[in-house]
Amino acid sequence: MQAKLTIDLDAICKNWRALDALSGQTVETAAVIKADAYGLGADVVGPALKTAGVKTFFVAQAEEGVVLRQAIGAGPRIFNFSGLMAGDAAALAEYDVIPVLNSAEQIAAFTGGPCAVQFDTGMNRLGMEPADAARLRDEITALAPELILSHLACADEPAHKMNAAQLAEFVAMTASFPKIKKSLSATGGVLLGGDFHFDITRPGIGLYGGLPFENAAPVVQLDLPVIQTREVKTGETVGYGNSWTAQKPSKIATVSGGYADGILRSAASASLFADDIACPVIGRISMDLITVDVSGLETVPPMLSLLNSVQTVDVLAGHAGTIGYEILTGLGARYKRRYIGGS
Ligand SMILES: *Cc1c(COP(=O)(O)O)cnc(C)c1O
Repeated sequence: MQAKLTIDLDAICKNWRALDALSGQTVETAAVIKADAYGLGADVVGPALKTAGVKTFFVAQAEEGVVLRQAIGAGPRIFNFSGLMAGDAAALAEYDVIPVLNSAEQIAAFTGGPCAVQFDTGMNRLGMEPADAARLRDEITALAPELILSHLACADEPAHKMNAAQLAEFVAMTASFPKIKKSLSATGGVLLGGDFHFDITRPGIGLYGGLPFENAAPVVQLDLPVIQTREVKTGETVGYGNSWTAQKPSKIATVSGGYADGILRSAASASLFADDIACPVIGRISMDLITVDVSGLETVPPMLSLLNSVQTVDVLAGHAGTIGYEILTGLGARYKRRYIGGS
């Protein structure tokens, strides 16, 4: 029996509407569904968001754009953040995926059609440097990009001075492109306020219930089936390396799920939940199995939850020393996936 991953499409659409409501009427809210919609399934999440009203999607690779186009059909725009890499051009054209041109090289390789352009305002990851943008001004203007975008490095820390610095740089760099629409903000930037919104915002993680969107509705529930329970006596050990020793007679449940499913070994301080009763993980998380102290339960249910509205992706990430993004995108391939909601 497989663990069960439940993905709430209504919650994703609700989060999109909530993020959309944070910017003005004239600001479009796109949806970032790279990395298979942060691990939740772009082929299902994409159509649900299209129905909810999303008119613009962003992916990270041309191949992701192809999959998304096949899922959502004609209509919404799909932008590809990595732009135009060797071998991408045919697929981008055939599936109507718009490259975000990131460098003078990508602009030179581009043979026409709709495009966007990315400027680097300080993150130094993707996008043209100010000198390139200035030098290529006429060329960029002639391409009539649908969008000029840039990306914030520290938007999840509202007080960080990098936010204002990048905003100022973006305003300066785009000043000589008055007719082209502009986009600076992902989820974190949406929360920084109107100065950061420009024409189009690009939330990703907030749609999927993650920080920094604190008011997000939880999207995922992960239930792991109990394979076996046993009583252990004081002094008995559980799991690899004998890393846990019973301090008192205890009831242990062994559940199906482990690091092969993206449940990080470093998350061993987390709990599994029977409704809202926390049952601590004990011993090491192994490849397929996790052991849990269920001494506190009267009866052990057939499944225990690793992700729910109490232990969210960010809470679990905290146990593992990582971020919610990595928990979501690491969700394994062995789960039985069930989608609820969506219309
Ligand atoms: C991933 C990404 C986003 C979305 O970021 P979130 O923090 O998930 O909202 C937006 N823009 C760019 C360029 C990205 O790489």
